[in-house]
Amino acid sequence: MSANPNSPDRPFPLERTRNIGIAAHIDAGKTTLTERILFYTGMIHKIGEVHDGAATTDWMEQERERGITITSAAVTTEWWQREEEGLVKSFTGEKQRINIIDTPGHVDFTAEVERSLRVLDGAVVVFCGVAGVQPQTETVWRQASKYKVPRIVFVNKMDRVGADFDAVFEEIKEKLGANAVRILIPIGSEDDLRGQIDVVNKKAVYFVDDATFGSTYEIKELTEEQAAIADLAYQELLEAVVSVDDELGEKFMMEEPISREDLKLALRRATTSNLIIPVAGGSAFKNKGVQFLLDAIVDYLPSPLDIPCAVGMNPDDEDQKIEVHTSDNGKFCSLAFKLWADKYVGKLVFFRVYSGVVKKGDTVYNPRTRKSERIGRLIRIQSDQHTDIDACYAGDIAAMVGLKNVQTGDTIAAVGNDVVLEPPTFPEPVISMA
Ligand code: GDP
Repeated sequence: MSANPNSPDRPFPLERTRNIGIAAHIDAGKTTLTERILFYTGMIHKIGEVHDGAATTDWMEQERERGITITSAAVTTEWWQREEEGLVKSFTGEKQRINIIDTPGHVDFTAEVERSLRVLDGAVVVFCGVAGVQPQTETVWRQASKYKVPRIVFVNKMDRVGADFDAVFEEIKEKLGANAVRILIPIGSEDDLRGQIDVVNKKAVYFVDDATFGSTYEIKELTEEQAAIADLAYQELLEAVVSVDDELGEKFMMEEPISREDLKLALRRATTSNLIIPVAGGSAFKNKGVQFLLDAIVDYLPSPLDIPCAVGMNPDDEDQKIEVHTSDNGKFCSLAFKLWADKYVGKLVFFRVYSGVVKKGDTVYNPRTRKSERIGRLIRIQSDQHTDIDACYAGDIAAMVGLKNVQTGDTIAAVGNDVVLEPPTFPEPVISMA
């Protein structure tokens, strides 16, 4: 495998891509959270261009009416991480790409759910801050555990009467047996939900009401009371990470100083290996805490380079296993995970690239049909529009137009690259609908 997985002409490095799903018990707020994420990521880079609140609201309303992106199989968003201090209105960090893949159905253990889970590298699981862990949430949780999807939890609806972040946090540990740690603790609750304590960075983040964007916030030093909460959570977090991460564990044993960066990296490794679940609290509906959830997605969920490589087999010899490494320099190999009939564009085949690069106009091979077909267009779904792209790189997600003989689950590869990605092993239904 080549040392550098990035080709020189890709727009930005692979390590800044996240492929995530959002999973939730029905009514916990998956749609609202997805919508808010799309709002912040779809519009945030236009801050300064949109001058009045109406534009934003209209955009949200249009989205809601049309429901285009929210119901799409995969949406590509971009996010700039925050600054460290003060009133934050602009975003100057490095650009991150977050592909949000729709994980259909709440309880239906179908092949479709499995297919979309296979192309995720991580998930945000949404819990209701009032209802906590409900039987249906346990189902969603078990499903993600079964496929070893790295997760972070967002405890939503912290603005609602009766919301109790700590109670939900305890339930996550007790009922789900999760090795959970708090990373963003709400400041206040119900009508008084004012911000979040950022445990890792030991800062207070206050939501600043901003009718235009709703996305302004202020980062401040912790008050004494908040510092006590943060210290306790930090200690718990450190102990949890040290006990599962050898590298950090060794530093701890040797009493070497552990920097925040060390801790962040180790927490990321632990989340990626499903050893630790970071938990954040906020309210999607009130736009409170969503931006920091986006930061947490980038900080603690894996990039396509962090996950184990995909495994395929030779279609003529099933015993011959082929490792498919995430790199632009490999031969093109992708998985078609969703077909979508679009009324303007026609049949879209959503795919995830595991290795190599595919370009518009390329002829690609389907080992199931043993046929080659030409890609007419490559499309990315971005905010509310289809954007034509020239190429799609390793680790990324987009849609092909022009292929006729594709089924979901098919491997689509370069001509001459005889590989079939492991077929999904469909689970037995766990729920009986009696
Ligand atoms: P889904 O079924 O998981 O997709 O849930 P929805 O996003 O449709 O939300 C269910 C209901 O909860 C809707 O009426 C939302 O407006 C409401 N809701 C979602 N998030 C929040 C929140 O953070 N606070 C409050 N108060 N209501 C919320």
